[in-house]
Amino acid sequence: MNFKTFSVMMISILLLASCKQKVKETDELEASGEFKFMVEQFADLRVLRYQVPGFDELSAQQKELIYYLSEAALCGRDIFFDQNYKYNLLIRNTLEEIAENYTGDKTSQDFENFMIYLKRVWFSNGIHHHYSTEKFFPEITEAYFAELIKNSPEAKFNLKEGESLDEFTARVSPLIFDPNIAPKKVVQDAGVDIVANSAVNFYEGVTQKEVEAYYKKMHNPNDNQPISYGLNSKLVKIDGKVTEQVYSKNGLYKEAIEKIVYWLEKAATVAENDVQKAHIEKLIEYYEDGDLKTWDVYNVLWVQDIDSHIDYVNGFVEVYDDPMGMKATWEAVVNFKDMEATKRTEIISDNAQWFEDHSPVDPRFKKEEVKGVSAKVITVAQLGGACYPTTPIGINLPNANWIRRDHGSKSVTMENITYAYDQAASGSGVLEEFCFSEEEIALSRKYGSIADNLHTDMHECLGHGSGKMLPGVSDGALKNYHSPLEECRADLYALYFLMDNKMVELGLIENLDVAKAGYDKYIRNGLMLQLTRIELGKNIEQAHMRNRATISNWCYEKGKEDNVIEKKNIDGKTYFVINDYDKLRELFGELLAEVQRIKSTGDFEAGKNLIEAYGVKIDQDLHKEILDRYQELKVAPYGGFMNVKYVATEKDGKITDIKVEYPDDYTKQMLEYSKNYSFLPIINN
Ligand code: ZN
Repeated sequence: MNFKTFSVMMISILLLASCKQKVKETDELEASGEFKFMVEQFADLRVLRYQVPGFDELSAQQKELIYYLSEAALCGRDIFFDQNYKYNLLIRNTLEEIAENYTGDKTSQDFENFMIYLKRVWFSNGIHHHYSTEKFFPEITEAYFAELIKNSPEAKFNLKEGESLDEFTARVSPLIFDPNIAPKKVVQDAGVDIVANSAVNFYEGVTQKEVEAYYKKMHNPNDNQPISYGLNSKLVKIDGKVTEQVYSKNGLYKEAIEKIVYWLEKAATVAENDVQKAHIEKLIEYYEDGDLKTWDVYNVLWVQDIDSHIDYVNGFVEVYDDPMGMKATWEAVVNFKDMEATKRTEIISDNAQWFEDHSPVDPRFKKEEVKGVSAKVITVAQLGGACYPTTPIGINLPNANWIRRDHGSKSVTMENITYAYDQAASGSGVLEEFCFSEEEIALSRKYGSIADNLHTDMHECLGHGSGKMLPGVSDGALKNYHSPLEECRADLYALYFLMDNKMVELGLIENLDVAKAGYDKYIRNGLMLQLTRIELGKNIEQAHMRNRATISNWCYEKGKEDNVIEKKNIDGKTYFVINDYDKLRELFGELLAEVQRIKSTGDFEAGKNLIEAYGVKIDQDLHKEILDRYQELKVAPYGGFMNVKYVATEKDGKITDIKVEYPDDYTKQMLEYSKNYSFLPIINN
C-alpha cells in the first residue's frame, strides 16, 4: 500500500467575516469603488471572492494560456461530484432542474430553504459536508420536495426508461432525506470496514480486506521508484472479480477528460517555453493512457519547471477523501508568480540547508543535502475540482516521495487568497472575543498576516520537505495517523523557526513580535477557534485539525508546570494566554524532534498514542462555551471562493484579447457551470 505525503495545507484562517456587519461594510466599500470580498453567507458557509492583481500586465500570450488552462480547470467539475458520491450528479441535476423550472411560489420560506440546500450541495460538491464529510439535510419536508418535482413541468429530470414522475421521486427522495443512506463520505473509525462504510465513490462492492489484498499484490518493497498505486481509478467488483476502472480518456470519466485534454492541447500551443510545453504534453499523454508511470514522468517534468511565469495543477492529486489514503480526487489550480512576494520565499528556500542543519531533530533523521525546494508566492487565477470553492492556501507537490527525494518539490503560497480572507475577516469581532488582551489584538492586527504567510511558506517549503526516513521504513508505516503526523511535522518546523533570530537576520521579519503574533494565533486556534467547526459531542477527525489540536494540547500540558500557556477564566469566558514564548518555542522543538523520530522510524504505536491522546477528544464544557461565544458573532466558520471569469474576444477565429471579470452571484455561477461544464452521464443505477 502506498500512502502519500499529504501536503495541501487547508485553510487555517479562522478569523472570518461576519455576514451582517460585513455586508454593510462591503456595500459601503463598493460604493467607494473598492472590491467586495464577501458575496453571501448561508448555513455554516460563506462565499467570498478573490482578485487577480497583475493579470492586465501579462502578455497577450500569457493571458491566452491562462484562459485555456482555466477552461481545463472547469471541465473536471463533474468528476469531483461523482467521486464524492455515486448519486451526486443525479441529485444535483434534480435540484437544478427544480430551481430553474419550478412554477410555484419562489418567495416562500420553504423554497428559500430548498435553495439553501442546493447551494450547500454546490459548495460541498455533493450531499456530504465538505469538511466533516457527514451527510447534511434540507430543511424542507419530503412532501414539499415531491411538490417541487410535480410543479416543475418543463424540468428535464433524469427518468429511467418507463419511469413515472412519482417513481422517480420515490427513488431520489431517500437519497436526500434518509439518514441511513450514505451517512458519511469518509469513515476513519478504528475497528470498522472503512471502505464498505464510506460513501465516497472510489470503491464499489469491495471490502477493506479486498482492497488491501488487491494493492498488496502490486506493491514491491524493493522498488525505489514506486508508482502511486490506485491513484487514478475506482475499484469495483464485477462478476465476483475485483477490477480497477482507470480514469482516462478511454476509461472512466472519459467524457470530461476528453474536454480537459481539448483545452490542454490549446494551452500547449501557447506555452511560455519548451519546458512548460513538454509537461503540458506529457499530462495530455497521461490523460490518454491513464498509466501512472506516465504520471510520474509528467511530475518530474513539471517539478523541474521553475522558470515559467504561469503554472497550474491539473489532475488526480490529493488523497484526503479516500479512507485508504490511495485514491485521488480531481483538482485544478491555475496561477502565476507574484514576483515581488516571491523574493520572500526565495530567501527561505535558498536557506533551506541552514534550517535543516539547525532543526532540533536527531541528526540521524535529517537530510544531509536538501535539494530542489523551490518556493514561490502565486496569484491564483482559477480554481477547479476539489479546490473549488474551498481552496487550500498553500500547496506542495508532487506527492510521490521518490520524486520529492530525487527531484525536489514545488511549494506555493497563494497570497491573493489569504489576502481576500484577511480583508473579509477584519471587523468580524472574532479577535475581540477570543484574544485575552488589547495587546494581543494589536499584535495580531499588526503582524497576523505576515506571520500567517510565513507560516505557510515554511510549512510547505521547509516543513514537508525536511527530514528523512531510515532505510527500510515504508511510507505506509503510520497508516491512518500518517496524515495528521505529517501536518504536525510541517507546522512544528514552521513554528520553531518563526521565532528564530535567523528570520530577522534574513530580513523576513522586522522583529520577533511577528512570531509572538503567530504563536498567539496558533494556540488560540488550536485550543479554541477551530472547535467552532465541530458539532458538540463529536471528535476531531480532519487531519489538519488533529494536527493543530495535538500540538496545542501537548504544549499546554507539557508547559503546565512552568505556566507556559495559562488558561484564564474571566466572567465565564476562557482564554489561553502565552506567558513564556521562548519556553513555548522549546516545546515546539521538542515535539518536532519526537514527531520526526516517529516518522523516520515508522513508530506506529507512538504516533497513534500521540494523536489519540492530544488530537481527537475535546473538553465538552470548553467546546460548548466556544460554540456559544462564536454563535453570538454570527460568523459562518467555513469559507470558499467564487471564481473569476475570463472573457475572450475573438476575431477570425483568433483570440485578440482576454478580460477578467468578477462575477458576484454564486447561484448564477453555479448554474452557468452546470450548463457549460456538465459532461458526465448521470448514473441512475
Ligand atoms: Zn501540509
